Amino acid sequence: MPMEKLVKGIHTFQQGFFSKHRELFEALAETGQKPETLFITCSDSRVDPNLITGSPPGDLFIVRNVGNVVPTADLPGGTAAAIEYAVEVLQVENIIICGHTQCGAMNAILNPETMENLPFVRKWLTQTTRVREILARGYGHLSAEARVTAAVEENVLAQLENLRDYPFVARRLEAGTLHVNGWVFDISSGAVFDYEPEEGEFKAIRAQ
Ligand SMILES: [Zn+2]
Repeated sequence: MPMEKLVKGIHTFQQGFFSKHRELFEALAETGQKPETLFITCSDSRVDPNLITGSPPGDLFIVRNVGNVVPTADLPGGTAAAIEYAVEVLQVENIIICGHTQCGAMNAILNPETMENLPFVRKWLTQTTRVREILARGYGHLSAEARVTAAVEENVLAQLENLRDYPFVARRLEAGTLHVNGWVFDISSGAVFDYEPEEGEFKAIRAQ
């Protein structure tokens, strides 16, 4: 039973991780949060931002939605509100937009007929129309799986552009107090790829 599994998990957390890190939680409760990074990723259950970056509670302000979309600046909504709060109030220093391999949202934008009975998903993903156009223009020769991966990468780049269009983000980028990165997490290998603008490609992040 899923619920029993969760209840057991809470017990394990309280007896294990929480009791080992009680001071951290007490400090976070007392002083409030001061996360360094805004992490925008997909809702996919296989992507765990804290796990893949080894980040303890308090370090990442996380926004998740279907397809790690950053809505265009004229579209109000929960995602934009969270980004505004992270940048303006929490004063995060980094923003990471992290897509992932085998993304169902990217598969859906390449195969719109799969969204016929999903009006909310369809409407939400209209914000990725540009990705579909790029794919149709330049990636017609790829296999189905490679096309999804290409869409994942192009989508991260498109969402980075939307992010830079927010006036409050543009201001802080201009001032040099904010950095943005586009990542792709590979579920099967655990590798994380970072977009290198100078080289125009995603490269694996290696331990330094
Ligand atoms: Zn996804």
